[in-house]
Amino acid sequence: MFVLAIVAAVVGAAAAVMTFMSLGSEGSEYSVCDSDGLLLQPQSGAAAAGSPAAAADGPPGTEYETLNGEQLQNAKTIIDVGLDAGVSEFGLVVAIATAMQESKLINVDYGDRDSLGLFQQRPSTGWGTPEQVQDPVFASRAFFGGPGSPHWLAPTNRAEPPGLLDIVGWESMTVAEAAQAVQRSAFPDAYAQWEQMARITVAGITGGDIDDIVLCGPGEAMTCPATNLDAEAGLTPDALRVLRCLAQEYAYPDIAGFAGVGDRPANPDSDHPAGRAVDVLFIQGGAMTLPKGNEIAQWVVDHAAALGVKYVIWYERIWSAERSDEGWRPYEHPSGADDDTSAHRDHIHVSVYGNSAGTGVGSWVNPVQGTYTITARFGSCGDLWQACHTGIDLASPAARPIVAASAGVVTTIADLGGTSYGRYITLTHPDGTETWYAHLEAYAPSLGVDDHVAAGQLLGYMGATGNVTGRHLHFEVRPDGGAPTDPAPWMADRGVEL
Ligand SMILES: [Zn+2]
Ligand SMILES: [Zn+2]
Repeated sequence: MFVLAIVAAVVGAAAAVMTFMSLGSEGSEYSVCDSDGLLLQPQSGAAAAGSPAAAADGPPGTEYETLNGEQLQNAKTIIDVGLDAGVSEFGLVVAIATAMQESKLINVDYGDRDSLGLFQQRPSTGWGTPEQVQDPVFASRAFFGGPGSPHWLAPTNRAEPPGLLDIVGWESMTVAEAAQAVQRSAFPDAYAQWEQMARITVAGITGGDIDDIVLCGPGEAMTCPATNLDAEAGLTPDALRVLRCLAQEYAYPDIAGFAGVGDRPANPDSDHPAGRAVDVLFIQGGAMTLPKGNEIAQWVVDHAAALGVKYVIWYERIWSAERSDEGWRPYEHPSGADDDTSAHRDHIHVSVYGNSAGTGVGSWVNPVQGTYTITARFGSCGDLWQACHTGIDLASPAARPIVAASAGVVTTIADLGGTSYGRYITLTHPDGTETWYAHLEAYAPSLGVDDHVAAGQLLGYMGATGNVTGRHLHFEVRPDGGAPTDPAPWMADRGVEL
C-alpha cells in the first residue's frame, strides 16, 4: 500500500465539537498524513473546502486546515509538468512550497493586484493572459521556466519573465530563496514554512499514483468512506478510521454524532486534543439503549486491530488492547466523578494509537512506507564500509516516511553530522531488541527520547545524511541490544519481507 504523507497542517485550529451526522457524501480517495500521522483529511466533492469559495475567509497564503483532493490534484499537475521539463526533486519542492504559499494550491481567480492562479502570476508583468495564468499547466510551465516555458526566448536562452530554471544558481539556494528568486514576493520569508510539507508531498506523489492513496495505516487496516463531518478535522488516521467505520456501520439514530479534536480538553491523557480519540454520542435521553451501546462498543473492540484502537471506555467499563486478555474491566473516572459523562454512560470513548491500524499490538511492520530497492545487504564487505555491513540499506529517490518497525521506546535521537549514521534514531522494544534507523533527512518533529511509539508510527524521513552515497535507510536489528543481526530473515520471521 502506498501512503502519501504531508506535514504541517494547523491541526490545533481544527476544533470540532458535537457534530451531528449528515451522511451520504461520496467517499474521498485521498487521505494524507502529517508527521505525527495526523490526518489532513480531504473534503469530498467539488464543492468542498478546496473550492475558491472556501478560501474566501482570507486571501491566498492564509493558513489552511486540510489538504483536499483538489489541492492534491493541483500538486500532481505541477509535479507532472516539472517532471516533463526534467526538473529535479528539489525544484519540484520549490514549486509546491511556492504554490502552497501563494494560493494554498488552489487555482484561485483572484489575488493581490492582478495576481491570479496557483502561483499568483500577474498578467501585467508578462506572465500571460488572465486565462493563461489560471491554466495550471501553463502556469506551472511558466513557473519552472527553461525551454519548456511558454515565455522561452531562444535568442537570450532564457524565459522572460524568468522561471526557476532560468535563475542562475537556483539549485544551491534554499527552497525559500529559490521561490523568492522567481516570485519576487513582498514576503520572501513566507515560503520557508511550507518546505517540509512540500518535500513530503513531492516524495509522496512521485512515489505512487495518488488515485490509489487510501487511509494511512501500515497494515491491513479497515477503510471506510469519508463522512464530511466536521468532527473528522484534525483526527489521526486511526481516529478517522474509527469515526468513518462506525458511521458506515451504525446509522442515525443508533449513533447521533461524534466528538473529535477540541472536545473534552481536560482529558488527562490528552487524546482528544491530539486527535487520538473519538467520542460516540447518543441522543440525550433518546433512542440509545444499553444493549445498543454495548453492541457498538463491542463492535469497536472486535475490530480493534484493524482500526488501531488502544482502549475503549463505555458504561463504567474499559477495554484496552494491551490487556485484551482480561476483556472488559471495571472503570472509574480518575477524578472519582460519577456523572453520566464521567462514567461514560452517555457516550463511548475510543482512544487510538494514531497510525497503527492493521498492525496489532506488538507486531512488526516494514520500516519504510512506500517502495524502495535494497542496495546493500547485511554482511556485505567492500570499500564503502570500514567493516562489513551491519544492517540492510533500503533506498529510494524520494524522502519516504520511516516508521517504527514495532512498538517500543525511543532511546536515541542523534545527529553525527557528515559521518557514520548521520541523523539516526534507535528504538528499544519490550523484549530488549533494538532497531536502528540511520541517514534520516529529518526527524518527526514532535518525537523525543523516551517517547513510546506504536508500530508504524512515523519516526522521520529517508535521507542521505552521514557517510552515504545516496538517499537510503540503513536499518539495523540488534537482539538484546547486542551485536547486529541480519534484518532480512529476522523481519521475515515476524511476517515482514524487506
Ligand atoms: Zn472521550
Ligand atoms: Zn547501510
